[in-house]
Amino acid sequence: MLTMNALYFAPVDAKLDLARQLFRQHGARLAADPALTALLGDLERLGEKLAGQMTAMELGTLCGACAARPDGGCCSAFMANETDAVLLLINLLSGRRVERLRDDLDPECCFLGPRGCTLEPKPLFCLNYNCRAIQALPQIDSLLTAASAVLRCQTAIESLLLETIGYRHG
Ligand code: SF4
Ligand code: SF4
Repeated sequence: MLTMNALYFAPVDAKLDLARQLFRQHGARLAADPALTALLGDLERLGEKLAGQMTAMELGTLCGACAARPDGGCCSAFMANETDAVLLLINLLSGRRVERLRDDLDPECCFLGPRGCTLEPKPLFCLNYNCRAIQALPQIDSLLTAASAVLRCQTAIESLLLETIGYRHG
């Protein structure tokens, strides 16, 4: 039986295994679901809008310079725990590469690739921009609006998936 702990709070490798198992079990059926396909399309579009906003604010340069400092960056190994099996399943359904890119001893998040995060969608905590350097930027409201739209869509997909894979609360 699927449990909240297995889906959300297990170690990263266990959540990866569960997401792959769910993808094998339900992937074909989910891919044929028109409601899910439409939501995944919305998520792609909203993700592109958010990425455009990040580019307009030059966050790549800001975060790149920050991450290059010995005490900088926020994609730490600890943050990898913010992923969950449902989020990883959404990434698999979106055709993303979903795998551990670093071992446990690396201080950086195991989903951080040479060109940034390999997950799309990302965990909620990776989209809250709770960082003084970003909060001080003049376009912060537009960024938060774009991020909220992505998160709302992610939540709708998550609800649909939980129902389809047979997870029940309690
Ligand atoms: S979000 Fe903030 S803390 Fe994280 S890398 Fe960018 S500037 Fe640094
Ligand atoms: S943005 Fe991606 S690489 Fe960075 S902590 Fe979040 S999941 Fe990991």
